[in-house]
Amino acid sequence: MAQYYRRFPDWLRRSLPESSTVRTHAILKKYQLNTVCRSAMCPNSHECFAEDTATFMILGKVCTRHCGFCAIASNSQGEVLRADEPERVAFAAKELGLKYVVITSVTRDDLEDEGAAHYARTIRAVQNLIPGVKVEILTPDFHAREDLIARVLEAEPDVFNHNLETVERLQRVVRPQADYLRSLNVLKTAKRIEPKCVTKSGLILGLGETEAEVLETGRQLLASGVSILTLGQYLRPTSNHIEVKEFVPPRKFEELSKRLEAMGFSRVIAGAYVRSSYHAAEAFAGGGRVHGKYADGIVIEEKGVDRNA
Ligand code: SF4
Repeated sequence: MAQYYRRFPDWLRRSLPESSTVRTHAILKKYQLNTVCRSAMCPNSHECFAEDTATFMILGKVCTRHCGFCAIASNSQGEVLRADEPERVAFAAKELGLKYVVITSVTRDDLEDEGAAHYARTIRAVQNLIPGVKVEILTPDFHAREDLIARVLEAEPDVFNHNLETVERLQRVVRPQADYLRSLNVLKTAKRIEPKCVTKSGLILGLGETEAEVLETGRQLLASGVSILTLGQYLRPTSNHIEVKEFVPPRKFEELSKRLEAMGFSRVIAGAYVRSSYHAAEAFAGGGRVHGKYADGIVIEEKGVDRNA
């Protein structure tokens, strides 16, 4: 792996912010919570924790699938569900002072409802404890079962996010137990069941996809009602995971996000270190920097913004 990091281009080299993450770590420990930030070895966790934010990971930390890019532990049987997890997530979110809460999970093909009821309870627990809070969920595919997607949406999340992760041609290598058309169907079904809910998806680039494939995937996501898209660079967690085929330069992220925005997405968040819930609140609200450059060359393209304002 050392040789792999030596190959890192300049734009991927960065120093960690000085600010402390102690408080966030302490609160997550106090409420015995998992985060995808740590389980998936997210490169932004230090920055986000230092800003008192994190993406809560429910349904245990063992996934019943084994995607080629993912650092999360996997087994055919997941962990025993803890009934008080929804309340613990809500208390932690409140103590962190979050106004925008992102909840994700491992995939639980071993549960009858694949965790749908636990998702709904967690969303409700957060809404009940934090008035005016916005909730984004990043869900598994629930095998595109309409009854399960409806059960989750009954809890009225503000954003329903489900990642396609990569283009159709690479699905089998990248996420062998998932399915491209099934995932598109999940997003389409969510939008049909609850048109008011914003739908979102994400791709990791650098796996060998072509620009034409990314744009075609974008077109299919738009046709499925998706309005927010994230594009990030795949970074190999260990030598047991699939290889990086390309380190995508910042200008390519910028070009892709401009073309995808012109195709119809209301927001495209693109950049090497962009992950599904990175700057999720800004991406949703469009508040603050609705159009601009963040650290690391991250671009938020937003339709209809007067660039000369
Ligand atoms: S389904 Fe999600 S958590 Fe499970 S291995 Fe794939 S990416 Fe990781």
